[in-house]
Amino acid sequence: MEDVAIIGAGIGGLTLALELHRVGKTCKVYEAVPSVAPLGVGVNLLPHASKVLANLGLEDALTATSVLTEESAFFNRFGQLIYSEPAGRYAGYAFPQYSVHRGDLQLMLLEAVRERLGPHSVVTDHRATGVRSLSDRILVQMENFAGTQKYSEVQARVAIGCDGIHSALRRQFYPDEAEARYSGIMMWRGVTVHDRFLTGASMVRIGSLATGKVVAYPLNPRLEDAPDKQLINWVAEIEVPEADQSTGADSRSYLAEVFKDWTFDWLDVPGLIRGADTILRYPMIDRDPVDRWTFDRATLLGDAAHPMVPRGSNGAGQAIIDAHVLAEKLVSEDDPSRALAEYEQERLPATNQIVHANRTFPPDLILQETLERTNDQPFDDVTDIFTEEELRSITRRYQDVAGFSLTALEGEE
Ligand SMILES: Cc1cc2nc3c(=O)[nH]c(=O)nc-3n(C[C@H](O)[C@H](O)[C@H](O)COP(=O)(O)OP(=O)(O)OC[C@H]3O[C@@H](n4cnc5c(N)ncnc54)[C@H](O)[C@@H]3O)c2cc1C
Repeated sequence: MEDVAIIGAGIGGLTLALELHRVGKTCKVYEAVPSVAPLGVGVNLLPHASKVLANLGLEDALTATSVLTEESAFFNRFGQLIYSEPAGRYAGYAFPQYSVHRGDLQLMLLEAVRERLGPHSVVTDHRATGVRSLSDRILVQMENFAGTQKYSEVQARVAIGCDGIHSALRRQFYPDEAEARYSGIMMWRGVTVHDRFLTGASMVRIGSLATGKVVAYPLNPRLEDAPDKQLINWVAEIEVPEADQSTGADSRSYLAEVFKDWTFDWLDVPGLIRGADTILRYPMIDRDPVDRWTFDRATLLGDAAHPMVPRGSNGAGQAIIDAHVLAEKLVSEDDPSRALAEYEQERLPATNQIVHANRTFPPDLILQETLERTNDQPFDDVTDIFTEEELRSITRRYQDVAGFSLTALEGEE
């Protein structure tokens, strides 16, 4: 019997498998889909998460498949720079900030798991439907992806629900929990081949949620056959009162109209929208924090535990940090149920604060403040509107809560 049954082969589940291997615990990963395909678009990994992956020996593999982000910059909808600060190593951190395709990150982790734990360590087409704790082990009920075939239960000492925002384990623990909460913001995401912009490794946030906001960053340093071009990940975010209303049903023409004037000398936003093969539309959702993740021999990790709106580049990063903390607790505490409880005690309050911060004061509060202080008009000089210290304090406050301020990470060295 394995020490740990990991439910879900996403970023959190795969990192957990590597962390457990590092500390000498056995595990198996059970993934619902029949075959892990590189889904999703870009994510940014901040230095607190990069540190965990570097300690797993993955820095070179990650560097090979991503961009080492140099700066994080904020612009108004007229393309005027409000504020820029260096990122990752460029800001003095010991570990980089990475901009990476989520699918590439997941496949890189999957490859490392199969290499280190063996080719059968990840079992696909196993959808967990529930768990039952016994005195000395836990049983996880499984069915196939289509739900047409039941598998016999698998057993382990503990089970960890890494099964994302629609977690089956969480549903078992909280059968009356409301549907995921719509934030009032709709997102459209795409990936487009575009000229290198700014440093060639810049993450930019432009505009405001009220009138239209765009987040953009490159996912590779250059294209082999066109060195002045990059694959740019972009997200358009707009306040839309109801998640299911028809606004944006024809995404391309809706976005083309909203962003038609956003041709700057440093970035062609209408061109980004036009050039995307596919535009995906998602409501921005999260869940209200719960006060307990651990039930006997099972607990939750990553989005299953603390789904957060993606406004602070922290969802995947926090799943990675959960995995590290959980592995440390499982190796330092003989009683596995106590280890799960200690993990929860450390991670639940910290991540609940981030869920709240992402709702109320994410870094892009700078954009909202700019809109209000300028009445949505171009400015002559940004120092007439903000002091440098005011702007810095907005991003610092978020870094403190999310646990990646330079001082916090230096303190851990
Ligand atoms: C638009 C957007 C932008 C984002 N940007 C960032 C960013 O810049 N930085 C960042 O850190 N995060 C970002 N995130 C968040 C990040 O993608 C998630 O927080 C992260 O993927 C969570 O990892 P996870 O492993 O918990 O869940 P997931 O990655 O969702 O993985 C869950 C896995 O479990 C499987 N599964 C589901 N149900 C079952 C079941 N019953 N049994 C077995 N397997 C199951 C799924 O198939 C999946 O493989 C963003 C999210 C969105 C939506």
